[in-house]
Amino acid sequence: MNRRKTKKIKIGNVFIGGDSPIVVQSMLKTKPDDLQETLNQIRALKNAGCELIRMALPEIDTCKIIPFLKKETDIPIIGDVHFNHNIALKAMELGIDAIRINPGTINNTRKVKEIAHIAKETKTPIRIGINIGSIEKRILGKHHKPGAHTMVESALYYTKLFEDIGWTELKVSLKASDIYQTIEAYRKFSKLSDYPLHIGITEAGPIFSGVIKSSIGIGILLHLGIGDTIRVSLTGNPIYEVVAAYHILRDMGLRKRGINIISCPTCGRCKTNLMEFVEEFEKDMANIDKYLNVAIMGCEVNGPGEAKEADIGIAFSANKAVLFSKGTIIRTGIPREMAKDVLKEEIYNMTA
Ligand code: SF4
Repeated sequence: MNRRKTKKIKIGNVFIGGDSPIVVQSMLKTKPDDLQETLNQIRALKNAGCELIRMALPEIDTCKIIPFLKKETDIPIIGDVHFNHNIALKAMELGIDAIRINPGTINNTRKVKEIAHIAKETKTPIRIGINIGSIEKRILGKHHKPGAHTMVESALYYTKLFEDIGWTELKVSLKASDIYQTIEAYRKFSKLSDYPLHIGITEAGPIFSGVIKSSIGIGILLHLGIGDTIRVSLTGNPIYEVVAAYHILRDMGLRKRGINIISCPTCGRCKTNLMEFVEEFEKDMANIDKYLNVAIMGCEVNGPGEAKEADIGIAFSANKAVLFSKGTIIRTGIPREMAKDVLKEEIYNMTA
């Protein structure tokens, strides 16, 4: 996997593009005028490992949250602005870390130019976020139907517009809910431009199907070397977006964070309740940042082999278990009811 070389930009204290790690982003789902709820969700997302947060700024008035958040948290906040460009101008004036505009919903070159001037003046990075559902009328009029090419044309037009004004701290996204259109748009754009790219499948759906769709789309793009920030867009608690993003990055060997559970699916040979064991164990491990491979296996068939290869492994045989650490058996005959505590203790020792 050869990561595409992109321009490096900085949003708040986070570098994006170039040789920086691929950054995990999510979006707040609270009402922006509910200051405390919003701050609580920001803190929960940060604890889960989120590195960039986007928040909707639907009205000029909602910008009043910006100074409060700047005081209370250091995670960079990207204000999401549609329709009224004055909201972007106000948010930049108040020190927002970055602005996401969708040129299709602003749909006015003069207004986007005004944003570019103020972005340059206030040194505010801009995400040009193209969405297939809102391609501007000028481009749609020319091509009649939205598609990957219309997203690329729109993104190139607006990046050029910012360049003409002398502001190039930009990142770009080209999102569709269709995986193939999304991939085509990113592939086309990345051949023509070196701006860092925020990737994801937009409106991916509820948690189960949304994670699958996002994993396929984001996974293919990452494999092509495309993507500097990612968001798994889910209709659900945003914490799941962050958890899913790290799973994707970890499974592709791009970020190492948290416990990677290798567990067997169980079958008729399994003589212990492995499903319950793994489910509870996963919840208990949710807050561990350190990267470890932990194998949890249901019987002697593949159990010892997998448990030996992992950093820590536990293999059941009937209602007793054997514990491995770095390939060596360190304990045998562990009763089922003690096995989770024994495994957790070994993990805490290794991550201490
Ligand atoms: S490790 Fe054993 S219990 Fe688990 S799936 Fe394989 S054969 Fe079945």
